[in-house]
Amino acid sequence: MKKAGKTAVVRALLAWYGRTRRDLPWRRSRDPYGVWVSEIMLQQTQVERVKDFYGRFLDRFPTVAALAAAAEHDVLRLWEGLGYYRRARQLHAAAKTIVADHDGTFPPTVAGLRSLPGIGRYTAGAIASIAFDLPEPIVEANSRRVIARLAGHAAPLGTAAGDEPIWELAAGLVPKQHPGKFNQALMDLGALVCTPEQPLCGVCPVAANCVAKQTGRVAEIPMKAARREAKQVCETAVVVRRAGRVLVVQRGPGEWWEGLWDFPRLPGAARGARRGIERSEVLSGLACGAISRLGTIAHTVTHHRITLDVVSCAAGRSGKAATGRRWVTARALASLAMTSPGRRITRMLG
Ligand code: SF4
Repeated sequence: MKKAGKTAVVRALLAWYGRTRRDLPWRRSRDPYGVWVSEIMLQQTQVERVKDFYGRFLDRFPTVAALAAAAEHDVLRLWEGLGYYRRARQLHAAAKTIVADHDGTFPPTVAGLRSLPGIGRYTAGAIASIAFDLPEPIVEANSRRVIARLAGHAAPLGTAAGDEPIWELAAGLVPKQHPGKFNQALMDLGALVCTPEQPLCGVCPVAANCVAKQTGRVAEIPMKAARREAKQVCETAVVVRRAGRVLVVQRGPGEWWEGLWDFPRLPGAARGARRGIERSEVLSGLACGAISRLGTIAHTVTHHRITLDVVSCAAGRSGKAATGRRWVTARALASLAMTSPGRRITRMLG
């Protein structure tokens, strides 16, 4: 894009943003802590859903020092329902690093920010531009699409190599004055006007400088990347009861939902549960009695579509639970940080 075109895009976008900017809770302050928490929550989660979680999180952990001092379990419990718990663990780890290595203040450069756990190129650019007014680019789902269309860049996106030209274009566009507002304007334009399907080019403030619009290629850009097929998986969750308590297990390192609590699971559907219990390291010694069916839950993790049968049985033997396992009351279940299907199962228990 030529210099005059870039200047026109920047001016038009900033003016449009000034008129239409969304009033979002994290936009009421430029404090890097609030910007960071919101950016991490907004990865893979819709704006409307993040609003509630953001308010609750900031109430409970109002500063980076408060977050650093929290127990990981409390952070995960508050994150429950947002999914992708790795984000919460990294947020917690980064808060500790900021307190331990940076005197509790955010490093004010992209390189310094990227040295923190869970802060990648996009998040570093967002914090640097919004909180520190640095002319750093950002590329995420919305701005990526807008920039690709503005520049007429018709290549598959969403991979590091595919996105590199978009990062270069974004770096060429972001102005020295109001870089944070400009970046937020790009994201808003992608969310509200330059949508994936049927963008509203008729009301777009940068239509005059949009190559895709001017060349009639809006529907072709960005090119769709090949979709990965979802894998179908069947599992059975077992609610083992004993003396008014149920058995829960903590997900281990490297597992989905690491650090969260769940009901023991067996591979395969409920009809194979008896054999699965006999083979299970967790359940085989518990002398489980008759199995009854509670229902079925469907859920998705990464590219796996899981059909989860839920069964219940009573355990015959007593004894202490091993590390990473607990016998808990219904009340204690309410305060544990649980996987989302685990929480759905607790609701089945009544
Ligand atoms: S003119 Fe259309 S395709 Fe181009 S940026 Fe605006 S909404 Fe997107």
